[in-house]
Amino acid sequence: MDAGARKRRISERVDARGEALDRLALDIHARPEVAFEERFAANALAEYLESEKVAVRRGAGGLETAFVAEAGSGGPVVAILGEYDALPGIGHGCGHNLMGTAAVGAFLALRDVLDGLRGRIRVIGCPAEERGNGKVRLMKGGAFEGVEAALIFHPGDRDEIDPLMLAMVSLDVEVLGKAAHAAAEPHDGVNALDGLVLGWTAMSALRLLVRSDSRIHGIITDGGKAANIIPDRAAATLMVRSPDNTYIGDLRRRVLACFEGAAVATGTELRPTWSDVCELVNTNRPLAEAFAENARSLGRTMHARRPSDTHGSTDMGNVTTVIPGIHPFLSITEGPVPGHSIAFTEAARTPRALETMRLAAKAMAMTALDVLVEPALLKRAKEAHDGRAA
Ligand SMILES: [Zn+2]
Repeated sequence: MDAGARKRRISERVDARGEALDRLALDIHARPEVAFEERFAANALAEYLESEKVAVRRGAGGLETAFVAEAGSGGPVVAILGEYDALPGIGHGCGHNLMGTAAVGAFLALRDVLDGLRGRIRVIGCPAEERGNGKVRLMKGGAFEGVEAALIFHPGDRDEIDPLMLAMVSLDVEVLGKAAHAAAEPHDGVNALDGLVLGWTAMSALRLLVRSDSRIHGIITDGGKAANIIPDRAAATLMVRSPDNTYIGDLRRRVLACFEGAAVATGTELRPTWSDVCELVNTNRPLAEAFAENARSLGRTMHARRPSDTHGSTDMGNVTTVIPGIHPFLSITEGPVPGHSIAFTEAARTPRALETMRLAAKAMAMTALDVLVEPALLKRAKEAHDGRAA
């Protein structure tokens, strides 16, 4: 079978499973689970693989809701990644219900056409993208061992091959003071909330002075227990983002200084905790071109990044820092719809969303096939990756 025939077969195999994949995507949508708690989703996807006679390793990389399965033999190893965590309060407002499903659909279709080819495909079920950097843990836990190319797709409101996904680090700020009766003995208290709010105000002033491509935002998670008690604890979670690794280091220092200064001013104690860094996504050009070509053959034109296009951040950035990879967006909407919104949650279960999920499965499987049958493609991908790394 030549590559063209294998690709036609991939399309047929995704379509043959279309109903089952749609049902999985809708079931996961109906039972949204936040980071690290995606038990229903991980189990549903793993069970579906098992029903197709695939041996699934659950709890891969030390994460309960991760899974890994492999097909083929020898090298190279191409990974197809899926996410399935939801957002607190708004459910699948990032459309991850379509991502895990597409990855599983791609893996199975490609497995069906692997006969006579050298190389392996690995599907990796990746928990905790919305918070917790699940893929970083999976890399440390060995789930990406030997992987030479990594493919994922993300639902969006525009077909975009090379989205700008910012580097990001989050900061948990805990401010400690001393409780006292707020009316009887306020002079005995040390107000943790004032320490936090003063730091927040300084940070807000700083936000007016940062580069327009960078972001600082957050929420206050603890503001005290009662209005008549001087708060002895207050807390906030902040996120700092930038496309520039040097600049993000500068911002980290300046944001922290806001809260350090406020702690001095209020006599409170500051306990800051930085998260792991979510790296900037480094789209691998040869792999992206192959994906765009496959998407075109399926009727979708992938667009280049526009300066006005803004997105968030993803732990796929950490993967693409060490392995050639792609993170294209495929539109599931008829026009602009902001991510992380109720409207996007609604969009993630429409017929267009399901059709896009199936198309993504085909395009990812075809691109993985390209890597297996075309050694020159992988060579170019590696050269492009190393060129950037150097
Ligand atoms: Zn997302």
